[in-house]
Amino acid sequence: MSAVTGGRVSLPVARPLLGDEEAVAVQEVLASGWVAQGPRVAAFETAFAAKVNAAHAVAVTSATAALHVMLAVENLRPGDEVIVPSLSFIATANCVRYVGATPVFADVDPATANLTTDTVEPLITGKTRAVLAVHQCGVPADVRALRAMCEPHGILVLEDAACAAGSQAYGAPVGADARAAAWSFHPRKVITTGEGGMLTLDDPGRARRAAALRQHGMTMSAFDRHASGGVARESYDELGFNYRMTDLQAAVGLVQLGRLDEIVARRRAIASRYRALLADITELMAVAEPSYGTSNAQSFWVQLTPAAEHVDRDAVLGSLAERGIGARPGIMASHLEPAYRDHRLRVALPATEAHTRRALILPVFHEFTDADQDYVVTALLDAIRGRR
Ligand SMILES: *Cc1c(COP(=O)(O)O)cnc(C)c1O
Repeated sequence: MSAVTGGRVSLPVARPLLGDEEAVAVQEVLASGWVAQGPRVAAFETAFAAKVNAAHAVAVTSATAALHVMLAVENLRPGDEVIVPSLSFIATANCVRYVGATPVFADVDPATANLTTDTVEPLITGKTRAVLAVHQCGVPADVRALRAMCEPHGILVLEDAACAAGSQAYGAPVGADARAAAWSFHPRKVITTGEGGMLTLDDPGRARRAAALRQHGMTMSAFDRHASGGVARESYDELGFNYRMTDLQAAVGLVQLGRLDEIVARRRAIASRYRALLADITELMAVAEPSYGTSNAQSFWVQLTPAAEHVDRDAVLGSLAERGIGARPGIMASHLEPAYRDHRLRVALPATEAHTRRALILPVFHEFTDADQDYVVTALLDAIRGRR
């Protein structure tokens, strides 16, 4: 039912699509008696890897955990530099610090909010070990171009695909052929396990090491030990973490993954209708779809343009909130947060700062109706043009 025609308006910015199938899947896990990492996690890893054309997948507790393990497996260490966008959820930059390396903030393309070869290149130094490209809000970054620039110099291109399950680039799923990509199943993303993440990899050696690191560095899983009757003994070859996903989460993830195409199709339809409705509004620039790929429309943002110079973004958010619309400020800029107070910027980040101060994220969720969307667009235009 439309939130607009159904009584008091309450349109959240996002709402996961969860139903009876997920509930049944969880009940089956509960009844099985094996609730921690086990057969469901293994099945989810296999299914997810197949879906994104990855050779290997290692399920973990979050995309943040996946990013941490990804960088640990690459042996990044103090003194190493990793180029990242500041314009991202703060976990992108934080994970570089978890391994003692230094995040170096690059600016983004204003139309896609992604790193480009132009924004990355000036920051490459002799210490640059990797570029961590984010597929921001599901819009694919041009990883192919970044790899062509970086790999001849021995610089790795790694992917923060937290938002990007179901996005495509160059005719293949985002993550296909990635050296390493981190995925999120937080409810704010397109499919969810409550909390949860996945690390996909192209190499069996790094995948084995990642699987060990997510369980204390243990070389045999609890499930394998159980299956062996408890006679086999594991070993702990290096310092690891506890980043295990549960079978309860994986059971939900398997159902959600089965719905991914349907969810992405609906989100893309909503995004393209927003684009059509906002096409002639000179005060707004909508997130662009790049020429080489398609977004899963994890988030749909608009940025106030110079034609809306007089408009206060936060006042627009306030006015939408008064009408029951849960729009959100645009993507955060990590370098403006107190946790990065001591961080020295090497270049100015004008596109990043313009986005974070002037963009708004509009509601997109599976059950969002055309009537809901018309209501949001009318409220947005009223707010920008000072109508009540
Ligand atoms: C959400 C998000 C993360 C973190 O995901 P979690 O699963 O919550 O840890 C990391 N990077 C980006 C770009 C994100 O959007």
